[in-house]
Amino acid sequence: MQTVTHLIAGEMVSHSNETIEVFNPATGKVTCLMEMGNQETVAQAIKAAEAALPAWKQTPPLKRARVMFRFKELLEANKDTIAKLISEEHGKTIPDALGELQRGIENVEYACGAPEFLKGEYSSTTGPGINAWSDSKPVGTVAGITPFNFPAMVPLWMYPLAIVCGNCFILKPSEKDPSSTLYIAKLLDEAGLPKGVMSVVNGGKDVVDALIQAPQVKAMSFVGSTPVAEYIYSQGTANGKRVQALGGAKNHAIVMPDAELDGAVSALMGAAFGSCGERCMAISVAVCVGDETADRLIAKLTPQINELRVGAYTQDGVEMGPLISKEHFEKVTHYVNEGVASGADLLVDGRNLKVEGHEEGYFIGGCLFDNVTTDMSIYKEEIFGPVLCVVRVNSLEEGIALINEHEYGNGTCIFTRDGEAAELFCDEVEAGMVGVNVPLPVPVASHSFGGWKRSLFGDLHAYGPDGVRFYTRKKAISQRWPKRASHEAAQFAFPSQQ
Ligand code: NAD
Repeated sequence: MQTVTHLIAGEMVSHSNETIEVFNPATGKVTCLMEMGNQETVAQAIKAAEAALPAWKQTPPLKRARVMFRFKELLEANKDTIAKLISEEHGKTIPDALGELQRGIENVEYACGAPEFLKGEYSSTTGPGINAWSDSKPVGTVAGITPFNFPAMVPLWMYPLAIVCGNCFILKPSEKDPSSTLYIAKLLDEAGLPKGVMSVVNGGKDVVDALIQAPQVKAMSFVGSTPVAEYIYSQGTANGKRVQALGGAKNHAIVMPDAELDGAVSALMGAAFGSCGERCMAISVAVCVGDETADRLIAKLTPQINELRVGAYTQDGVEMGPLISKEHFEKVTHYVNEGVASGADLLVDGRNLKVEGHEEGYFIGGCLFDNVTTDMSIYKEEIFGPVLCVVRVNSLEEGIALINEHEYGNGTCIFTRDGEAAELFCDEVEAGMVGVNVPLPVPVASHSFGGWKRSLFGDLHAYGPDGVRFYTRKKAISQRWPKRASHEAAQFAFPSQQ
């Protein structure tokens, strides 16, 4: 069986005999083994990065961007292979895998604009004979730690931008689906990236801790669950690093009485059940304004959830795949049991679903709860599965207050035809990404992605303009060339232009 190891300075390297199994969630069978990196692996990746850094940061942005142009072409040429690798280890459908790859490619396209966004600012005559400019310099060697649910897209949120800004990058992908991430990183070598600029170290907490402790690593980007985000933020900053750590979510959609209901139902189906609910922007709570809205919505949603086509990515017409692992399947099932025990009405029960020919897969059908209240664990916690909770409120204001009281604030949206209601919602709601009749308001690559409250630790959002700020540091230079013969007396008052 193949063992996935680590990519350092353009070579696959191996440091230990400790491996873990990687599964195909649709069959429950092992697809490959993955070697767990250790301190030695991290040290080798850092050494390679530090060796490559001096030349890479002096490489003109235009030349760095050219690597990204070639990388984009290679990603497009290999998209079917990549999508298959994603689906095989993650379980999502092929169209969904192609969708995440495309959103990743859009971040590579944004990175191609480096000569423009690294241009800097210049002012002449900021004082007598003085001019000034500010430059965006690389931070140095930076690291990224990524989750299982977007093995292609989330790493592509990070390293194209970090690299094009002149940094070297060490990626620690999820141990649950490492193959597509590694395949993509190898394409970067093929695109002509100098060796050592980008490395991939596979592993778990030990690798992350070694990166946190390494003084050479100047910044860390993290995407994953909130407890780990908080840990990496606190430990990373205590070790003197810049950290942006994106965490978990519980995204609410408000459905107003005037919403175009068929459209809202289609939007909710995709946003709640796409990728088996394993998206940080998945809608997991539908907040219905008025009982009549709730009843009408449920009447339309119920048959559609019952008819969801659940199966393996290899089967035709499948809309939703399995959960990532057996443990996660048990966790999601446990939440559904808890919801029932706490008194919510389980209108569609996806437990006990069997997919013919895939009896060992981690499949669960879509679940719909009504009359969910804010004290229930299915409301409070991130389930990260295909479970949609309906909460009933009496007004838009009550719905907004509910969202604002939740500990997470990643994405949210409203379905309405009323501009005034939408405007109030956009102004008042406490979440980082807001949709108006857009169920998954994931910003395009030229904007930045990030939540509020316990969905993000740090100051800057991921990718886009905030990504550039995160991966660069400003240097302001003031310059003067006095005439050779002139001699000025020392000034002891603080220099000013009074
Ligand atoms: P996770 O937190 O378990 O793992 C994320 C990464 O952290 C992995 O690389 C993992 O190996 C590493 N890790 C896990 N435990 C660690 C520990 N104790 N110390 C150091 N590193 C550790 O998350 P996951 O299950 O892979 O992904 C799902 C989670 O990610 C969900 O909570 C989801 O909402 C979140 N997510 C958030 C965003 C966002 O943009 N906010 C995007 C995607 C996923």
